[in-house]
Amino acid sequence: HLSKRLALVASFVPQGARLADIGSDHAYLPAALALAGKIKLAVAGEVVAGPYQNMVNEIQQNGLDGQIIPRLADGLAAVHPEDHVDTVVIAGMGGTLIADILERGQEQLAGVQRLILQPNVGEARLRAWLQAHRYQIMAERLLEEDGHIYEIIVAEPSLVPFRYSDYELEFGPLLLEEKGPVFTQKWRDYIQRQTAVLRQIEAAKQPPVAKVKQLQSAISLVKEALA
Ligand code: SAM
Repeated sequence: HLSKRLALVASFVPQGARLADIGSDHAYLPAALALAGKIKLAVAGEVVAGPYQNMVNEIQQNGLDGQIIPRLADGLAAVHPEDHVDTVVIAGMGGTLIADILERGQEQLAGVQRLILQPNVGEARLRAWLQAHRYQIMAERLLEEDGHIYEIIVAEPSLVPFRYSDYELEFGPLLLEEKGPVFTQKWRDYIQRQTAVLRQIEAAKQPPVAKVKQLQSAISLVKEALA
């Protein structure tokens, strides 16, 4: 009973993974993966008591004690060395928060081979963090569910040097290459919103020149990407 969004996130978890799901809320994702026999073990991390209790209940109700370990902890502090976690999911938060959790959890990331990230906003910031820490983007997906557009970024530690352009960091190197229908919709919506803001600002008695210029160049950059 996973949402379309969480099912797509789950599809990137390798068979037999030792998973950490940080900010797991109800532990729906690790529970579904464990019930499907896809993972060896999962750590479900939560920093808030309410969601932590939701996880404990979900694990008990599904008879998954021992297979999914709930931990009340901030970010990757939920991951202990003896867990030997190789796959990390962080989904349903802002890109800045995800980057911050990764930044503060670098020690726990040492043996991790795959990050599966689903930022709600701030994707460019997150991609910049990945690049700065030598994680290469292996897959990117956009999906629409209930009127929202969600982005999924799959990254792995890279042995070879690589560099994304600012353009690729903004739009996603693989999404840009593909330019699928949801990509087009996402950025058309963006243009529409920003154009409305621009019109409002321009209607002012003394429109702030710097802000107008900034909006105009942001809009034309996106138009260029869509072309
Ligand atoms: N991952 C689930 C999903 O994608 O459906 C739940 C997303 S929910 C919107 C975000 C969850 O992250 C909340 O339950 C919140 O308590 C938790 N969270 C926020 N900051 C966190 C942190 N630093 N460490 C662990 N959990 C955190």
